Amino acid sequence: MNTFPRFLHIETLSKISNPYRNYAYFLFSNHKRRYTAVSLSLSTKSAEETLVVVGAGAAGVYGAIRAKTIAPDLNVVVIEKGKPLSKVKISGGGRCNVTNGHCVDNVILAGNYPRGNKELRGSFFNMHGPTDTMSWFSDHGVELKTEIDGRVFPISDNSSTIIDCLISEAKKRGVVLQTGKVVTSVSTSPGGKFSIKIEKCTIDYVEYVEADYLMIASGSSEQGHKLATQLGHSIVKPVPSLFTFKIADFQLVELSGVTFPKVRAKLKLETVQKSIPEHTQVGPMLVTHWGFSGPVILRLSAWGARDLSDSVYKGSLLVDFVPDIHIEDVKSYLIQHKNKFAKQRVISSFPSELGLVKRFWRYILEHEDLVGDLLWASISNNLLISIASRLKNCSFRVKGKGQFKDEFVTAGGVPLSEISLNTMQSQIQSRLFFAGEVLNIDGITGGFNFQVMYHIILNAWSGGYIAGTSIGNMAIAANLKEAAV
Ligand SMILES: Cc1cc2nc3c(=O)[nH]c(=O)nc-3n(C[C@H](O)[C@H](O)[C@H](O)COP(=O)(O)OP(=O)(O)OC[C@H]3O[C@@H](n4cnc5c(N)ncnc54)[C@H](O)[C@@H]3O)c2cc1C
Repeated sequence: MNTFPRFLHIETLSKISNPYRNYAYFLFSNHKRRYTAVSLSLSTKSAEETLVVVGAGAAGVYGAIRAKTIAPDLNVVVIEKGKPLSKVKISGGGRCNVTNGHCVDNVILAGNYPRGNKELRGSFFNMHGPTDTMSWFSDHGVELKTEIDGRVFPISDNSSTIIDCLISEAKKRGVVLQTGKVVTSVSTSPGGKFSIKIEKCTIDYVEYVEADYLMIASGSSEQGHKLATQLGHSIVKPVPSLFTFKIADFQLVELSGVTFPKVRAKLKLETVQKSIPEHTQVGPMLVTHWGFSGPVILRLSAWGARDLSDSVYKGSLLVDFVPDIHIEDVKSYLIQHKNKFAKQRVISSFPSELGLVKRFWRYILEHEDLVGDLLWASISNNLLISIASRLKNCSFRVKGKGQFKDEFVTAGGVPLSEISLNTMQSQIQSRLFFAGEVLNIDGITGGFNFQVMYHIILNAWSGGYIAGTSIGNMAIAANLKEAAV
């Protein structure tokens, strides 16, 4: 017989239950946190299974929809402590950079992931890659466009289009979304089920929910990492990724705003503990008030994220400002210029072949102590060689990290070696799944027109989809097995 104590949050339970289920709920309530155990036995019919998803971000919502699409009888509940899809809302400058439409080759795509580039070369993007994501949204009524640099946005240029599509699809499929609640701990019962502790964010309220499957899609939040460790996983320490460099050179301020379409930048880091590999990137660079930014720097920050953290963001940056010109050619352009314009002031003319801007030429001369009204004729060939070397290998001291726009990306999370990327299932705890930024994956490219392109959200769509597919299939198989008994 059903026994519902009056104070029990019937609405909550009815949302996540199903008329044919057997439930055992435990409820803490009131400020005194009085403990009450409630056992519900709603039917004698065989029990359907429950999936609880932690986090209503891109990975969680997409994964929940997929699981429910495959296994309509599976109870799918998404618990979200804040607003659903809040990062999707601000991603791509509020337009939602859904994916990259130019990266069709999975190996090249995986190469854009500082963390995950080896592992993602396998079947991950074959199972659900950029074109599949684009098709999914098109099939669900979202018109997309691909910009020249490959970034894909909804034609509305508004991330709400993506959010509305996901929320309405989740609703249509019967996914239950509970907001304002946080999953604070999880354990497993001897029968292999998950006992999930959920607290309300605003009031003193605790409930325990039992689930057959758990998908942790909690982004980079520490709470999500804690849940993973409670179930036996390790966490690669989160460190910032995607930031600008602060440079110790007060004369750089004069160059603030100057852009270099193509430089080769090599980062050498200082640490006493171990020898750190050098990181090199080629691409556009921008001078800011405090140092350097632009795709080449952001890529260095992403690829060197962990080494930079180990060296407390101290090191040297060697910049080749004319990467396409051999040093011998740089020297001969300078010598030819001297011979041709001997009577001109050094400050006011320089070889056009070097493609420099005037402000930067002045900066180079100041570093060679060539100030005043010197004429080209008075510059020794040794000094010209020194200028050529500086243009090819200019050294800057990195003294710290800055911030890139409002974006804060972290490297770290559950190691990929602890899950199976074909299913997103944990290799430590069966029926436990991970998707999205909770994993130690992050991706970035940059190079076209100073645009930086992330591939992080793509990992969330792909991982969510694969996890949802695996869970849906397992639930169907369990149902069939039960029906056969
Ligand atoms: C400003 C900005 C711009 C960006 N632009 C781009 C871009 O252009 N392209 C791109 O590819 N990526 C971009 N990203 C990154 C991209 O938005 C994220 O990588 C992606 O949204 C991650 O999805 P996720 O589902 O893994 O995590 P999230 O979106 O972080 O979702 C996790 C959810 O879990 C919830 N949660 C966490 N712990 C708990 C708990 N214990 N209980 C309940 N709920 C919990 C959180 O509140 C959150 O809503 C951008 C990010 C930012 C911040």
